[in-house]
Amino acid sequence: MTGAHVPQVLTTNAVILCPHGGIGTSIPTNPKWSVNGGIVLLENDTGTLACPFLLLPCLGYQLRSMGLNMSRIDGRKVILATDFNRTFTGLPLTMTETAGHCDGELHPVQRFPHEMDPDLDQ
Ligand SMILES: [Zn+2]
Repeated sequence: MTGAHVPQVLTTNAVILCPHGGIGTSIPTNPKWSVNGGIVLLENDTGTLACPFLLLPCLGYQLRSMGLNMSRIDGRKVILATDFNRTFTGLPLTMTETAGHCDGELHPVQRFPHEMDPDLDQ
C-alpha cells in the first residue's frame, strides 16, 4: 500500500456491537498512542460485551489482526476497523470507528506519570 491514506485503526472510540446489540467496551493494554482521543487497540486486546442474549451471552472478545496492515506498536499489530473479529462465542462483531480518520495519524498519549515534571510545583 503506497497511497497517502492510512488504514483506519481501531480505537477505544469505536462502537463495537455483538449480533444481539450488546455494546462492547475495549480495554487497551498498551495505551501509548491515540487517534483523535481514542486509544489505539492492539492485537490480543480484549473487551467486554453487555450482551442481552441470556441463553448464551457473548461476554466479550479478543481482538485479532488480519495482517493487512504492517503497523506495530511495541511489536504488536495494530487493529484496523476493517479487521474481522468475533466474540468469545464465535459470532461476528460489528465495529464502527468514530474517532475519525482524515489522516489516520497517531499521536502519543500525553499522560504518562514519568513525564510529569516535579519542578512545575514552584
Ligand atoms: Zn451477543
